[in-house]
Amino acid sequence: MILGRVWIFSERLAELQDTKANSTETYMAEKNRIRFIMTFLWVRNKITQFFDMVPCSPSRLKTFENETNHLYLGITIKSGIVMKRKCNIWLIFPFVVSLMALGCKPESNTEIRIIVAGIRHESNSFMPYLTTADDFILLRDSAITMDPPWARFLIDEGVEIIPTLIAGSGPSGIVSKAAYESFRDEILEAFRNAGPVDGVFLDMHGALHVEEYPDAQLDFIQEIRKIVGKEILVAASFDLHGNISPGFMEGLNIISAYRTAPHVDGEETQLRTVKLLLEALRKNYQPVVAHLNIPILIPGEKGVTSAEPVKSFYKRLPVISGMEGILDASIFIGMPWTDVYRAGMSVQVVAQDKEYLSLARQQAESLANDIWDQRGNLQFDVKAASIDDAIEMAMASKDSTVFITDSGDNITAGAAGDGTLVLERLLEHQVSDAVLAGIYDPEAVDQCIKAGEGARLQVAVGGKIDYVYSRPLSITGTVASLPAQVPGSETPDAVLEVDGVTLVLLSDHRAFTHPDHFQAVGIDPLAHKIVVVKEGYLFQGLRDIAPRAIMALTPGFANQTLENLEYHQVRRPIFPLDPDMTWSVN
Ligand SMILES: [Zn+2]
Repeated sequence: MILGRVWIFSERLAELQDTKANSTETYMAEKNRIRFIMTFLWVRNKITQFFDMVPCSPSRLKTFENETNHLYLGITIKSGIVMKRKCNIWLIFPFVVSLMALGCKPESNTEIRIIVAGIRHESNSFMPYLTTADDFILLRDSAITMDPPWARFLIDEGVEIIPTLIAGSGPSGIVSKAAYESFRDEILEAFRNAGPVDGVFLDMHGALHVEEYPDAQLDFIQEIRKIVGKEILVAASFDLHGNISPGFMEGLNIISAYRTAPHVDGEETQLRTVKLLLEALRKNYQPVVAHLNIPILIPGEKGVTSAEPVKSFYKRLPVISGMEGILDASIFIGMPWTDVYRAGMSVQVVAQDKEYLSLARQQAESLANDIWDQRGNLQFDVKAASIDDAIEMAMASKDSTVFITDSGDNITAGAAGDGTLVLERLLEHQVSDAVLAGIYDPEAVDQCIKAGEGARLQVAVGGKIDYVYSRPLSITGTVASLPAQVPGSETPDAVLEVDGVTLVLLSDHRAFTHPDHFQAVGIDPLAHKIVVVKEGYLFQGLRDIAPRAIMALTPGFANQTLENLEYHQVRRPIFPLDPDMTWSVN
């Protein structure tokens, strides 16, 4: 049976400690205050030693009591942190009386308060499209906290979450200054109005690039620090395709990036990050990040985490994270289609406190050097070929279905998604049974809607955003369907039968990365010989069903052959643009 709990408070200690030597009051008054402090500290230390207490949170203490049906003594050592010890009510009583007599007051049941914000975007600077505020989905208030596992965890732990704004958009061209500043300013205003907070959680992608800002993420954290100060812990979770600068990392206490590509651990990474933040708050850590940029620029397709040597590098992260004094470790593959100085690979190791920073640096350096040594082995994990060779291999294949990725026009890397080269080549090869999912062209979809299901029409598709590597292609086909029930899409798409090709024309800029996306437009991909999607590596949902995959090395704003792109801002020298360069951490 639970007898009840007793709370003893020491929050006055901090107030008293602030009033020492520089006081203008008399010597005696000062002496009495110091005596009071000394007595207080002595009593607190004796209690701690006597009961062999350990720190925990008030909510943990409550849970512990409920589970064990025992009474625990809790002494507040910091807002949100208590020392706990299983004890007997009669042992506690004298301490309660004596400390109450010394002027202690009951606890105000203060919870840990964590403020949450985020700007998530993967910005492709080669794509001639300016991403505006209208392209973002904005989450505010309960929309931020009602669903994700990280929020449920914090709520269960008794943490007060202060949601502000999480702005997120699919990968595309760089973000407009107006859009970024409107998100940033809304977040900063919410921070100013939030009152005192214990910690900050930022939900980021890491490859944000904004027009007129050399490093918008650095600007973002610097503005946040101006409000919350240097002492408040800031934790951030990332996609491993982020481009991370040292200055940005300096503003953060805890960071954690995905450990899988194709990504299957987004929620897990967010959860790991907030768990580390809460642990640091409860244990009174002041974590610091050891960060290193590695001069390697590779497409994500050479950084698949299930393929060697990348697999082995990522395997080391949990081992490093398990070391004493280390909280977490990350490897960023980077985003090579953002022409910025910070683009490329980087590693981070989070030290629990400054005293473990040298160990964190040592681990980061070891990881960085080993990655550098293996740079020549960072290769595609699937067969890569020209589009013509890919189509011929697929047609000749004994596999029932072959997936071909149109990697240069990879929507998931922010490319246009309206390139027509692959469609042109499929028709040229007179394939008899292919699906192309899809080409982004709202105007062509409108023409199909006006023509209606079953109608035959001539329409010029694609080549409107990607007018650099592509051109509109005039085709004649029959409107097979106008599927409307596509998740995330407000207008219908159009499925057009063009000779042997089933072409999906998309009303919004999105990729087919999962079998559900095909089901939504009424297509069974495995019922066709060739399935073309506009991505680089095949996402996990499609990997799971694909009998075979070939990556077509097509031109576009996500060209896999980086040497073919014109870079102006990336650091030089950098591998593989400067293949003969040498480098080491020291
Ligand atoms: Zn990613």
